[in-house]
Amino acid sequence: MEYQTPKPYLDDSCVRCGTCLSRCPVLGLTESEARVEIENLKEGRDRRVLKGCPSCMVCDIIFPNRCNTGEIIVKR
Ligand code: SF4
Ligand code: SF4
Repeated sequence: MEYQTPKPYLDDSCVRCGTCLSRCPVLGLTESEARVEIENLKEGRDRRVLKGCPSCMVCDIIFPNRCNTGEIIVKR
């Protein structure tokens, strides 16, 4: 499978709802855990996402505001 560069994370559009990470098929986060994790990613804190994420980019498909969570994960 060909690797594709992630689309840029749109910080201004992200309301930190955590929906993208709560629907991740790998990490098994609750919605409240997902909200904490999106803040951790924003602030550069290394927590659960970076330990368990294989960068499948499914969260880029299932998020509601089209702000591309996958890129911030890859950057961290
Ligand atoms: S990237 Fe989208 S779904 Fe994820 S926390 Fe931000 S607004 Fe919510
Ligand atoms: S890229 Fe990581 S956080 Fe996003 S859906 Fe895939 S495993 Fe989950």
